[in-house]
Amino acid sequence: MPSNTMTIAEATRAMAARQLSAAELTQSCLDRIKDVDGRLHAFISVDGEGALSQARQADADRARGQAGPLAGIPISIKDALCVKGLPATCGSKILEHFVAPYDATVIERLKAAGAVILGKVAMDEFAMGSTSETCAFGAPENPWQPGYVPGGSSGGSAVSVAAGEALASLGSDTGGSIRQPASLCGITGIKPTYGRVSRYGLIAYASSLDQVGPLCRDVADTALMLQAICGHDRRDSTSMAMPVPDFTAALTDGMKGVRIGVPKEYFGEGLEDEVAAVARQGIEALRQAGAEVVDVSLPQMPYCVAVYYLVATAEASSNLARYDGVHYGFRAEDCQSLLDVYEKSRSRGFGAEVKRRILLGTYALSAGYYDAYYKKASQVRTLIKNDFTAAFDQCDVLVSPVTPTPAWPLASRQDDPLALYLGDILTISANLAGIPAMSVPGGFSVKGTPKGLPIGIQLQAGHFQEEVLLKTAHNLEKALGIGWRPAPLV
Ligand code: GLN
Repeated sequence: MPSNTMTIAEATRAMAARQLSAAELTQSCLDRIKDVDGRLHAFISVDGEGALSQARQADADRARGQAGPLAGIPISIKDALCVKGLPATCGSKILEHFVAPYDATVIERLKAAGAVILGKVAMDEFAMGSTSETCAFGAPENPWQPGYVPGGSSGGSAVSVAAGEALASLGSDTGGSIRQPASLCGITGIKPTYGRVSRYGLIAYASSLDQVGPLCRDVADTALMLQAICGHDRRDSTSMAMPVPDFTAALTDGMKGVRIGVPKEYFGEGLEDEVAAVARQGIEALRQAGAEVVDVSLPQMPYCVAVYYLVATAEASSNLARYDGVHYGFRAEDCQSLLDVYEKSRSRGFGAEVKRRILLGTYALSAGYYDAYYKKASQVRTLIKNDFTAAFDQCDVLVSPVTPTPAWPLASRQDDPLALYLGDILTISANLAGIPAMSVPGGFSVKGTPKGLPIGIQLQAGHFQEEVLLKTAHNLEKALGIGWRPAPLV
């Protein structure tokens, strides 16, 4: 097997046995990037030299018996995260020439664990989107089907892992941006509990919803990556001082004693039959592995999309006020006054979807409308959270689909923002409630054309219950027999 398609666990074993060096592994990923990325557009910037020098360091550390848990593992990073000395565009022209002056906490932690940073990967502009097509530097493509979206906003992350360019990736998830691309590209992704992972050095979209997490080739790798990035950080005031369990130790066989909840609202209108069938097959597999299955209800579900698109855009309008043409990135040249600098820099620097959301969020927060929109949305958000609390009295893990459909052709939904927003219906409530949620490969499409598109299964658990989430994912992976397989890149 070429080393660029190994899992983290396989590569680590090979390196520990001295059958593979980190420098060779990194080179094989860089070669793969050179071969396929002209077509896939997963990367915005590649740091080949930096990666190889980190790899040589990892080899030296291993030779001295000081290899960290991710020593020599080549990883791609969503361009929303700051890596010192590398560009951080957040997929936007407004940050085109911005170079991060410091490492995000998650990057510090990956580096301390010995990981190798290959470069920065494509995303929807400011993480606003579900296809990665709003990226200002070219849209990545689904490696399972040419001309199809990989999902978003962490599309470059999912593509790089699925296509053999990186062994794992870090993404961010505000309303599904890790889980949805993981599902559409046939890999595993987790959005941790809000507060589990530091947001310091993550370029903000909607601060009360954003969370960093890994996209990986299997569940065991996901546990390893999560382990490396978790933990309290004083530089993020919403980071929680919670003990970090041993996630790998949680991956035990058998589901006895675990209650699986089937939320009926997640199997409603608009869901494609075969997507529902994949989730139901997963539920059955977990039952056979010993889980108890109960029906649950989340009655506020119909309000989730409206609440999310008010809260997220309101926070975005405030977070994105800092891009004023003065502090960071792009500044229009031909300006007569300060107001002119703001107006021209922002009009030319931001793309259409970002502008739409800034306008929507500013409207929702404005005097006279605040009570009707932002305040009301915040109140309903509490009701949504209460629904989950009630559901988790009856069960430990909710099992459902991730997205209503498998991947779709590039450009086919881009002129219908509302259709795209509605497609987020199954993932956004986890962010509104702050609970951890995962996507695990569940099957492949068999109807329609093309066939063979990956379909994921979503697992959600209560706050800080990542262990039962990972255990369930592990059992699902085993029972369904859909382990890691590289995308065919047909
Ligand atoms: N698709 C959702 C949005 O456009 C979620 C994006 C995300 O999680 N960053 O807001």
